[in-house]
Amino acid sequence: MAYDDENIFAKILRGELPCHKVYEDDLTLAFMDIMPRADGHTLVIPKAKAVNMLDVEPDDLCDLMRTVRRLAPVVKEAMEADGILIQQFNEAAAGQMVFHIHFHILPRWEDQKLRPHRAEMEDADVLAANAEKIRAKLEEMG
Ligand code: 5GP
Repeated sequence: MAYDDENIFAKILRGELPCHKVYEDDLTLAFMDIMPRADGHTLVIPKAKAVNMLDVEPDDLCDLMRTVRRLAPVVKEAMEADGILIQQFNEAAAGQMVFHIHFHILPRWEDQKLRPHRAEMEDADVLAANAEKIRAKLEEMG
């Protein structure tokens, strides 16, 4: 599949669509998933163009993983979670909906099931509050 510049995450990267940002550097961006499967569900994307794991340049993937590795413990602490699930889907048949490579950082709690994938839009206030919690924890943890 060819990369489509009109995909939603490309538009977010260009600032054409808003997002609840938690982190940005020269190579990556992290923001709240609009239909979270768990409170604090965060997406991490590269600024480099790639559809998924099947076409991403290895160096771009390493840059992306550096940010996933940095944010995973921050999200866990910020959300007071018991664990963190990292997910990544490749092609529609495997559950991919947005065709710009991304990793999901999902807080997990012992007693809570994940909500269904792509089920319900979260209130903007809740997304903003969780983004703020994660940004504050990132400030604290570095
Ligand atoms: P995947 O492609 O890995 O199946 O999932 C894409 C993810 O992006 C889904 O979890 C979905 O909730 C999220 N998503 C879809 N559209 C938007 C959007 O416009 N903004 C944000 N922040 N997340 C989105």
